[in-house]
Amino acid sequence: MKKLLIANWKMNKKMSEVVDFFYDFKNGYSKKREAWVAPQAIHVQKCSELGYSKDIKTGAQNCSEHVDGAFTGELSPRSFKDIGGDFVIIGHSERRQYFKESSSDCNRKMKTLLREGLVAVYCVGETLQQREDKETLTIISDQLARGLEDLSEASSSNLIIAYEPVWAIGTGKTASPKEAQEVHAFIRQEMKKRFPDFGDKCRILYGGSVKPDNVEELLAQKDIDGGLVGGASLKAKDFLALCGD
Ligand code: PEP
Repeated sequence: MKKLLIANWKMNKKMSEVVDFFYDFKNGYSKKREAWVAPQAIHVQKCSELGYSKDIKTGAQNCSEHVDGAFTGELSPRSFKDIGGDFVIIGHSERRQYFKESSSDCNRKMKTLLREGLVAVYCVGETLQQREDKETLTIISDQLARGLEDLSEASSSNLIIAYEPVWAIGTGKTASPKEAQEVHAFIRQEMKKRFPDFGDKCRILYGGSVKPDNVEELLAQKDIDGGLVGGASLKAKDFLALCGD
């Protein structure tokens, strides 16, 4: 399977900047690696149209656990799919930190997404304090246990895990390839325990200050199947470099 790079644009880019990005990116993109983009929800439809010719899938950065209904201000997974949305990032550390999302909240959202035939990208990762206290694997194990509770093997094939150490997000500090691989191998083991068939195939992405100058080393690790990228995904030139172009 090709390596997968997902751009998480967070709350950035005006429509004109979105259009310019796609123009530049599509010009250089060879599909050597898969490239997916998660813009702000208001740009999903435009990105889906712009990305279609190059198979660039479009995602949201959060959604409701309900398919639709009286939930003012929420993003309906069903309406998101209807306008061309493919995947949703769930449990990003910024959602956990600023919006107090728990792994159980993530679990309910992911169940809805998988039922609706959408892809869920589930983020897990420890804080600096937890790493220093040698709690990394306990934290990850707990986030996986609560987040994936009651998901069946059959529904899991649309699941992607992103390991994002909180201390490496937007800080310029990256986990070394060895540190990242250790956690990825642990996640792989946990996934195989839960999903004997799917566990081996499940894509496990690394996120946290991935840049053109460290991406190759990270992607060379056995259990790193791609990257979830914030800052370095905002410029087409940098995201092309991450995609091997
Ligand atoms: C992210 O927000 O998912 C992320 C990994 O950000 P950055 O690449 O900027 O560290």
